[in-house]
Amino acid sequence: MSEKIRPVRGMNDLLPPSGDAWLALEAQVQSLLQSYGYQHVRVPLLEYTDLFKRSIGDATDIVEKEMYTFADRNDESLTLRPEATAGMVRAAITNGLTHNQKHKLWTTGPMFRYERPQKGRYRQFYQIDVEAFGYAGPDIDIEMLLMSARLWSVLGLKRMQLQINSLGTVASRQAYRELLVDYFESHREQLDEDSVRRLAINPLRILDSKNPALADLIQGAPVLTDHLDSESAAHFAQIREALDAHGIAYTVNPRLVRGLDYYTRTVFEWVTDALGAQGAVCSGGRYDGLIEQLGGRSVPAIGWAIGVERLLALCEAEHRSPAVVTPLVYAIGMGEPAEHKVRAVCESLRDTLPDALIIQHLGGGSMKSQLKQADKSGAQYALIIGAEELASDTVTLKPLRDRSEQQALAVSELATILSEM
Ligand code: ATP
Ligand code: MG
Repeated sequence: MSEKIRPVRGMNDLLPPSGDAWLALEAQVQSLLQSYGYQHVRVPLLEYTDLFKRSIGDATDIVEKEMYTFADRNDESLTLRPEATAGMVRAAITNGLTHNQKHKLWTTGPMFRYERPQKGRYRQFYQIDVEAFGYAGPDIDIEMLLMSARLWSVLGLKRMQLQINSLGTVASRQAYRELLVDYFESHREQLDEDSVRRLAINPLRILDSKNPALADLIQGAPVLTDHLDSESAAHFAQIREALDAHGIAYTVNPRLVRGLDYYTRTVFEWVTDALGAQGAVCSGGRYDGLIEQLGGRSVPAIGWAIGVERLLALCEAEHRSPAVVTPLVYAIGMGEPAEHKVRAVCESLRDTLPDALIIQHLGGGSMKSQLKQADKSGAQYALIIGAEELASDTVTLKPLRDRSEQQALAVSELATILSEM
């Protein structure tokens, strides 16, 4: 026997029945996003490496150690997208979507990060990503927060908490940055190697450190929200007022800086205590400077992403897995002529009942074994055609989920009777 081929570490196969649960969840998300007027787009999985360096930021975990970067055959450096925003912005610039226009968009697909695989953390994972271009005021921030809160309630999820913060404008962040450098400089001996390096390139990143040894030091650092410019402070206040007015609970977390450099003003995270260490299910924020920074016009923007694996895990933890559809009919035939008849009956049922799940048994076998399969499928009815039914142009409909009697039905009345049941 040849050596067994291996999957890539941290990259999962989506198998039955999870695949259908996944689709059902996506369908719920899709219909909610569409109901708020967000339009679907798709962008490439591969982009030039520079896009991510210039947007996510050089001193971030993602760019420093998590990207799948390689040279293509033409020796150009390409990267598998670690997140969706950069590609969405690139697409908006490329296609002129930022020229005196407003857009509310969403996309979904796999992202790639070279992380240490564990529960809820994979090297290929999926995001549902929402972005809006051209909206400056807090009304879009508010709409996005309300929309995400509504999504959790549509999905029946209770264990989600909202954390929000404001990072201010680039200018107010610059002033805060200097305070932060002074603070960390005066405690330099307590910093780890990563933080010392970041102190020079991007001191805000230190606040995002996951090293527990730094927790106290970070706790004592100056707080960004105390140094907001007045416009950002007003923007933030309006968001909090709207959340209060709509009864959405939240915590202002002044340490929330997010792991990407491009955010300005609003940042937020929906976290759960139901998934252990990987509790961030949905996160995002405003990035008013990014489009211009990537060579587009100066256009305000905001976006967020859901980690689909984590959202599904939370649905499971809260016993809210999307229902998997069971068959209405599992149709079996005894012998070849009957099998042909079964196929024709199934096709005509699919014509008249396009939403019903109709399964034809494939591969033959005894009546007993076919009925066993019918039962196992979870179907409401076994539809049986044997020699007798064939001769009389009837089918036997046998209820599988209750004790009611089986009945012989004319093929012509089958669809009507099934749709009434
Ligand atoms: P974390 O703090 O858990 O590393 P993050 O801040 O890096 O998350 P984002 O870049 O904001 O995550 O991505 C948005 C969402 O994508 C996260 O809230 C999470 O649900 C999901 N996510 C991020 N990285 C992974 C991963 N490696 N595997 C699975 N889901 C992920
Ligand atoms: Mg991360």
